Amino acid sequence: MTQKHRQPEVNIGLVGHVDHGKTTLVESLSGEWTDQHSEEMKRGISIRLGYADATFRECPGLDEPERYTVDETCPDGSESEHLRTVSFVDAPGHETLMATMLSGAAIMDGAVLVIAANEPVPRAQTEEHLMALDIIGIENIVIAQNKIDLVDREQAVRNYEQIEEFVEGTVAEDAPIVPISAQRDVNVDLLIQTVEEEIPTPERDPDTDARMQVARSFDINRPGTTWEDLIGGVIGGSPTRGRLTVDDEIEIKPGREVEEGGQSEYQPVETTIRSLQAGGEFVDEVTPGGLLGVGTGLDPSLTKGDALAGQVAGPPGSLPPTREAFTMDVDLLDRVVGENAEEIEPINTGEPLMLTVGTATTVGAVTSARDDECEVNLKRPVCAPEGAKIAINRRVGARWRLIGVGTLR
Ligand code: GDP
Ligand code: MG
Repeated sequence: MTQKHRQPEVNIGLVGHVDHGKTTLVESLSGEWTDQHSEEMKRGISIRLGYADATFRECPGLDEPERYTVDETCPDGSESEHLRTVSFVDAPGHETLMATMLSGAAIMDGAVLVIAANEPVPRAQTEEHLMALDIIGIENIVIAQNKIDLVDREQAVRNYEQIEEFVEGTVAEDAPIVPISAQRDVNVDLLIQTVEEEIPTPERDPDTDARMQVARSFDINRPGTTWEDLIGGVIGGSPTRGRLTVDDEIEIKPGREVEEGGQSEYQPVETTIRSLQAGGEFVDEVTPGGLLGVGTGLDPSLTKGDALAGQVAGPPGSLPPTREAFTMDVDLLDRVVGENAEEIEPINTGEPLMLTVGTATTVGAVTSARDDECEVNLKRPVCAPEGAKIAINRRVGARWRLIGVGTLR
């Protein structure tokens, strides 16, 4: 039987240290290998955020947690019942990809933090990703203690206690810890049950103005396509509110960079939604949840190579202002997270900061800094509402490190 398509209704991030089993877990839940998402392969673009949809189901005849499954057939041969389709956003665990993880966090409704049972707790990105969830305000968290097939009972218990100790005082303090083996399919049913209980689908008003955080943008035409056959630019991302319908007019901000008299500025672009693709199928309308592709009437040169990534789309006139500079309230961490946990010095006037605002990552030069606020001038403007949370990164040695959180004034 072919599975009837259902649009995912919630985005769940998979976060944690590299090699702890995030991608393996997504694969066991969705049957897809997010590192090589077929759409991504087809379009010949390198992946930034992996994602895959999974449908959680249940076999009403069975007890908990055995009743939870992703299989369409129950052990007795009957058909399982649909519970919910979720979209997993698989964050890269490598330290240099922290900016990608932060921008991915902007579209996560909850997260599964994967921690390997056979390694000391915490590893650098385990801590850094948890801090990022805290900063972005993702509170619905389930911890998967993975690879329990590699440790004996005693080691598993000790590691479990280390995890409990590590999350104490963090946003994940009350998060349930589920021991699993993603590779051997051990306790994955209990993990599904726990996600069902801990990460509910957020309540959303479908009649409010639509808003979409753009995470990717593409030119899907083959080189040499003649203009009659050119397909308009495609933007990829996740709607966070409202609904988008084919033929809707949308505005995208900050938009395109326009040169005028040696000065460059960003101007919003407006276009029509020509197609909507969700879960690999064309649909007429989408509501929040899942990652989707929006075909537009834009000149594909505008959307090529993620040119619009980090921007925001919605009905014309409904979007927050574009900001080339802003003031933010600043809350610095005490220490750099992870290895070499140096103390964090105050922000200095003139220093460059890497800022993640929504799905946008931009570099800003600090034009004025006081203890708990600073003003920045952005290289590339962002479209963001007052009160937006900003992840603040500073260059420490060879890489950007998370040093605190800002709130847009
Ligand atoms: P990621 O970097 O967090 O996405 O980790 P991957 O999913 O790529 O997994 C890293 C390695 O760990 C791979 O070789 C997996 O086969 C292996 N692995 C993942 N989950 C388990 C598990 O539950 N048990 C064992 N023994 N190996 C696992
Ligand atoms: Mg992976």
